[in-house]
Amino acid sequence: MSKSQDVIDMFSEYVMPTYAPSLVLTKGKGTRIWDADGMVYLDFIAGISVLNVGHCHPRVVDAIKLQAGELMHVSNLFYTENQARLAAKLSTLSLGGKCFFGNSGAEANEGLIKLARLWGHEKEKFEIISMNNSFHGRTLATAAATGQEKIRKGFDPMPEGFYQIDYNDLDGVRAMITDNTAAVLLEAIQGEGGVIPADEAFMTGVRELCDEHDLLMLCDEVQCGMGRTGDWFGFQGYGVRPDAFSVAKSLGSGYPIGAVVSGPKLADVFQPGTHASTFGGTPLACAAALATIAVIEEENLITKATVTGATFRAGLEALIAKYEPVTEVRGKGLMLGLVLDQAAKPLTDIMQTQGLLALPTAENVVRFLPPLNVKESEIEEALEILDDSLAEWLGIDTEE
Ligand SMILES: *Cc1c(COP(=O)(O)O)cnc(C)c1O
Repeated sequence: MSKSQDVIDMFSEYVMPTYAPSLVLTKGKGTRIWDADGMVYLDFIAGISVLNVGHCHPRVVDAIKLQAGELMHVSNLFYTENQARLAAKLSTLSLGGKCFFGNSGAEANEGLIKLARLWGHEKEKFEIISMNNSFHGRTLATAAATGQEKIRKGFDPMPEGFYQIDYNDLDGVRAMITDNTAAVLLEAIQGEGGVIPADEAFMTGVRELCDEHDLLMLCDEVQCGMGRTGDWFGFQGYGVRPDAFSVAKSLGSGYPIGAVVSGPKLADVFQPGTHASTFGGTPLACAAALATIAVIEEENLITKATVTGATFRAGLEALIAKYEPVTEVRGKGLMLGLVLDQAAKPLTDIMQTQGLLALPTAENVVRFLPPLNVKESEIEEALEILDDSLAEWLGIDTEE
C-alpha cells in the first residue's frame, strides 16, 4: 500500500469530511510541494493565499523556532512586545489606528462585525450590507454576511441584520441603506466569488455613501491583503480608506493569526470586557507575522506581485486566442483567474497530474495564487504545464 493510502484511510475513518482533499503532502519549499509518494508540484494555490512568502521561508521558520524557545503564550492579561510591534506595523502600513488579534479570517471578520455593532449600538445601527458571491467565513455571523446561499443552507435560523446586494451595484447599495444600517462590508477583490475586482467607481462610491449616511466602510482583506494584489492591502489600489479591515490568511505564513485593523475612528470602540480571544496575538503568532512582513519588505514582494503578475497575466491572456473555452483573465497582481466557458475542475485535475496546483473557483474559474516570490522561470514552467493541460483536456494533439 502506498504511504498516501494509509493517510487517506485514516482520514476517512477519523476526520469529519468537511473537505474532499486529494494529495497527501509532506514537504514544501518556496513554490514547490512534495507528496507522500515523492511527486513534486508547483504550488499555485499556496494554502489559498496563506503562503505569500512561499513554503517554509527560512526567515519565518527561524523566527518561530527562536520564539518557541523563549515564550509561546501568556494570555492577554499581560503585555508582550511582539503584539505591540505587530500592531504598530499593521497600523503604519494602513489606517493609522489600532488592532485586535484573533486566529483566523472568520474570527477577524466576526470581530469587524462586532466592532460595527458596538459602534452603532446607541444609534440603533446594526445592519450590515455585504455583497452577493462574497466570502467572509464559516461562523454563524460571517456565514450570514457571506452572499452565498449554499454556505447558509441547513444552519437556520441565521443571525439577523445581514443583507446582500450585487457586487459593483452602487445604486443597489444606496437603495438598501436604512436608518439601521451600520456598515458596508466588501472584498476589494472577491476571491471565492471568482477573482472579481471591484470597479473603481464602486469602491470610491461606497466610501462616499458611507460618509454621507454615517456608515462604516469595512474591507475583508483576508485573501487579497498582505501584498497579493501589488499593494499591501487591496483597497489601497483604489486610493480608498475603509474605517477598518480584516486580515488573516497570509499574515502568519501558515501560523494561525488574524487581525481587525482600524482607523482612528474605531480605535477605542472595544474596551476591556467587550471582546476577547485567548490565543489572539500570542508572542509566537506575532513572531511569525513580524517575520512575514519583514520578508515582504526585504524581498520587495509588493512590487514583485505587480511585475511578476504582469508576466503571468500576459501568458494567461495568450491562451484566450489559442483555446476556445478560455474566455477571460481577471484579477490583479498575483491574484489571477482564468475564466472558462465551462467547469474548471476537469482542467485543474489534469494540471495536478502534470505537476501544477491551482484552484477551481466559482465553477468556471481557475484561480492562481502563487507565492509572491515565485520566480519568472516558475511562471514560465506553470504556463507550459497549463498549455499542455489545456491541450490534453480538449483532446488536441500537440505532437508535430
Ligand atoms: C478564507 C477567507 C475567509 C475565512 O478565513 P478563515 O481563516 O478560513 O476563517 C474570510 N474572508 C475571505 C475573503 C477569505 O478568503
